[in-house]
Amino acid sequence: MSYFDNNATTALGHNALSSYEGALLEDWSNPSSPYRTGSRVRAKIEQAREELAGFFSFKRDQIIFTSGATEANNAIFAHFSKGLGLKGSCLVSPFEHPSVIDSAKYWFDQKIIYMPTDGKGLVNLNETSSILEKEKISLVSLMAANNETGVLQPWQELAEVCSRNGVYFHCDATQWVGKLDTSGLSNCGSFSASAHKFCGPKGVGWLATKAPVKMQLGGAQEFGLRGGTENYPAIASMMAAFKDAQDRISEVNSRALWRDEFDKGIVAGIPNSQILGSGKKRLWNTSMVLLPDYENLRWVGKLDKLGFEVSTGSACSVGKEQGSGIANHYGLTAGQGRRLVRVSSYFEHSQSDWENLLSAFCLAYKELRSDSVNSSVLSL
Ligand code: PMP
Repeated sequence: MSYFDNNATTALGHNALSSYEGALLEDWSNPSSPYRTGSRVRAKIEQAREELAGFFSFKRDQIIFTSGATEANNAIFAHFSKGLGLKGSCLVSPFEHPSVIDSAKYWFDQKIIYMPTDGKGLVNLNETSSILEKEKISLVSLMAANNETGVLQPWQELAEVCSRNGVYFHCDATQWVGKLDTSGLSNCGSFSASAHKFCGPKGVGWLATKAPVKMQLGGAQEFGLRGGTENYPAIASMMAAFKDAQDRISEVNSRALWRDEFDKGIVAGIPNSQILGSGKKRLWNTSMVLLPDYENLRWVGKLDKLGFEVSTGSACSVGKEQGSGIANHYGLTAGQGRRLVRVSSYFEHSQSDWENLLSAFCLAYKELRSDSVNSSVLSL
């Protein structure tokens, strides 16, 4: 099978697996325990924290290990509304991940302003900046890269505008960390990241935050901000995956060309197909294809049989009535929304994997057409 759904999750990397196993076997003591094995785990957690803090130019006590990005995003919204006494509105893009949009709705009691966009997947920086100057805003939150289209958002620029205006800026960097250079993240008030998007394990990530965000009561762990016994094996595994991903960031430009060739091949080979976000700066691994015919689940099924795992959009919108957030944003009809297929690679893919995926799409199209001809003949 060729797995092309890496924006949903990635397979655990080799080093991540061995670090996980090693820590499960050797470093399973409670890091809060006073004896030597406990202290050793505590020291290793603190070393991991220092490494992340140094890498992202945050302070040590500004890195809080979490269960992933959903928890981190929720915590930021809770902190800036109820935690601080709801004052102003929050300003978010309309195509944020549900862990941001739903938190904004819940914690800001509908005091939400949506960032103006170009209607094609990109936030309009100038118009968003002028809202900041006019309205009373308590929190600005913009994703770094969209999980569905891969379109890169102007988060670095918005972080600067926010800092000039004295407004807190949070960035959901879940799809960026492990795929692109992260230097600008030090200018954000906070950002969230998740290990399972870069070949680390599920259920672990971090919130880097300059605001002391109270996340969980009931323990002194994580500087008293997030009570609960730390999951060191998951943290160790995440750190191994993070280092491996950083070693490969220099490869991304050439990898983007393989994806671009795939996009061209799709548009040429499947008449009236489109790539959402094409022509914009996008993650090098992602392509959201709007197909001209047949529901996406049929495409997914055909491609699965041909040996390729792709998705119908964000895994987090599966099962939600309103479907993909990005489909609503693009103003697609319900029918078009059901013809979206997302493909997302990661570092293990080669150029020929992309070429084979393109051939599989063209073959799936041929088969779907002949299936529908045969079924209309049968129904005559
Ligand atoms: N934000 C974005 C942009 C995502 O793609 C995801 C994962 N689909 C999340 C947040 C949530 O991450 P986690 O699975 O770690 O909770």
